[in-house]
Amino acid sequence: MAESIFTRIINREIPAEIVAEDDRVIAFTDIHPKAPVHLLVVPKDPQYRDVTELAAGDPELLAHVVATAKRLAGDHSDGDFRLVFNTGATAGQTVFHVHAHVLAGGLEEGSLGAD
Ligand code: 5GP
Repeated sequence: MAESIFTRIINREIPAEIVAEDDRVIAFTDIHPKAPVHLLVVPKDPQYRDVTELAAGDPELLAHVVATAKRLAGDHSDGDFRLVFNTGATAGQTVFHVHAHVLAGGLEEGSLGAD
C-alpha cells in the first residue's frame, strides 16, 4: 500500500511544523487549521487506519496519543481541548493513518468538530 501523507511527514519526505515527537508518535500543525490551535497527533506505526483499529490493536498507544494531546493543549493553549478522530470517509476521514485532531484556543461552544 502507498505511504500515507503522514508517513511521508514522519520520514521527513515532506515538511511540516512539528511540535512534538518521540519514539511512538509525532505531532504537527494541521495544514488547514479549524481552530486557533489545531494539531495532529499521529502514531508512527502506519498499520492502524483509524481509532477503532488502534484501540483494539494497541490501547496503550492510544492512551499515549491522548496523553500527548493533553500535554500539547497545555503547552499551546489553556489546557482544555477537543479531541477528534474522524472515522470513515463519510465522517470526514481523508487520511487512513490514524490521527487525533487536537483543537484548542477559543473554540466555539456547540461546534463539534474538525470539519
Ligand atoms: P481527516 O480528514 O483524515 O480527519 O484529517 C486529515 C487532516 O490532515 C486534515 O485536517 C488536513 O488538513 C490535514 N492534512 C492533510 N495533508 C496535510 C499535510 O500535508 N500537512 C499537514 N500538516 N496536514 C495535512
